[in-house]
Amino acid sequence: MAEHQADAIVIGAGPGGYHAAIRLGQLGKKVICVDRDEVGGVCLNWGCSATKALLHVGEIARQIRQAGELGLTAGELHVERERVAKFKTDVVNANVGGVKTLFKGNNVQFLYGEASFKSPTQIVLKKREGGEDTIVAQNIVIATGSAPIDVKSWPRDGKTILNSDDAVKLESVPKELLVIGAGVIGLEFATVYTRLGAKVLAIEALPQILTGTDVEIAKTLGRILKKQGIEIMLSTTVGKIEKSAKGVNATFKGEGTNGKDETRTFDAVLVAVGRRPVTDALNLKAAGLSTDEKGFIAVDQQMRTSVVHIFAIGDVTGAPLLAHRAMAQGVVAAEVISGIRSAAFDPVAVPNCVYTDPEVATVGLSEEEAKAKGHEVRIGKFPLAASGRARTMNATDGLIKLVGDAKTDMLLGMHIVAPQAESLIGEGVIALEMGATLEDIGLCVHPHPTLTEGIMEAAEAAHGKAIHILNPKPRTPTAV
Ligand code: NAD
Repeated sequence: MAEHQADAIVIGAGPGGYHAAIRLGQLGKKVICVDRDEVGGVCLNWGCSATKALLHVGEIARQIRQAGELGLTAGELHVERERVAKFKTDVVNANVGGVKTLFKGNNVQFLYGEASFKSPTQIVLKKREGGEDTIVAQNIVIATGSAPIDVKSWPRDGKTILNSDDAVKLESVPKELLVIGAGVIGLEFATVYTRLGAKVLAIEALPQILTGTDVEIAKTLGRILKKQGIEIMLSTTVGKIEKSAKGVNATFKGEGTNGKDETRTFDAVLVAVGRRPVTDALNLKAAGLSTDEKGFIAVDQQMRTSVVHIFAIGDVTGAPLLAHRAMAQGVVAAEVISGIRSAAFDPVAVPNCVYTDPEVATVGLSEEEAKAKGHEVRIGKFPLAASGRARTMNATDGLIKLVGDAKTDMLLGMHIVAPQAESLIGEGVIALEMGATLEDIGLCVHPHPTLTEGIMEAAEAAHGKAIHILNPKPRTPTAV
């Protein structure tokens, strides 16, 4: 049993944890990062990187199927599951290897094992190879992330009743897939598996997909997904799920079934009803820490918990559960530990991207949220159908929507359903952080031909000045 001393220990090597550890190393701190699993956490191993690799494969499959529309003749598409899975694994390994190299280069000591508090400054590490070590550190960063919520009455077997960790392994492509929950994870996997040839039904208990997203944007996406063959039932709940010789029988009821019980057989069921914080093994009590009723750890803008030298970052601190938020919080925690007093996590807004086809990306307030906060809103919209660039991409289904304050013209939110929305939204992030008005955005000369012009035109549309659409009344352009 070894005893390690460090300036800081980071528990969890996901995106939040590895950012914290690398920044601590950059700032000259002696840092130990521990994880019971592989470096990179959910994001690199099972989540962001893995699913995006599969989505990319699916995107190529879709393009091959639609090649005829562009005058290309392609042979029949065969999905070689093992080789697709290998591509995904290669992407994951390259990213994980990259972080390990960065750890070495920044003097971050990485140890495999499960950490739990012995006291507020002592960690016991149950090592992966057996035995226990103790780590004593002046500062501790909890970055243990989140895990899928498993529903007891739908017992997961990893083969036919799946959670997102199973679905990313791509053991097989089911002919008929039921996705429970039309949130981010549900819709991303609905997209992956539809592209790979599955017939997907997504059932959502609430009245809209992607709850919390601007309603018009969610409806636009829903309409597009339905056109792609994804069946979506809203305000519908799943009851019994039973395995049978033919697969899994699921019974559901609600708006999607006209209020009657309906039972269908699927090859697999993906349960995507949310994620929960992971704190079970930490023995938080010994650190003098507690969680809220959902298990999340409260922090301030410097990422400090109620115990002054213990920090928490990422999913374990609550919504929104997003890798890029965890990364930014990790950097803040490391800088605060290193004595940089101005460090704080205080963004105007955190962007959110959903990797459907096309993608959805949003930042700031939805129209509904802006109204609820008492803003008189000014809306500017630009449909992709009017974008020359979108036409060249044969992808004219989508919408760019800006929400502004009618009195000050300040941008409050940007919402995009479009190919590459996840990159386009960067413009909204900067505009919000810099306090741009809709007029500012409309006056910025955007490159042609690009999808970014749609953002400029949406801003111009808010003032009745867009060129490539017929502007809603008043037709006379308004000066601000
Ligand atoms: P979610 O909360 O986004 O969606 C879960 C959905 O399931 C909700 O709409 C909920 O109403 C529905 N639901 C719950 N119980 C149900 C039931 N019994 N029947 C039918 N529907 C039911 O959760 P998620 O999609 O699991 O994602 C979890 C978190 O992970 C989210 O916070 C998300 O932001 C994050 N995430 C982000 C990305 C990304 O940024 N691209 C990708 C994956 C996950």
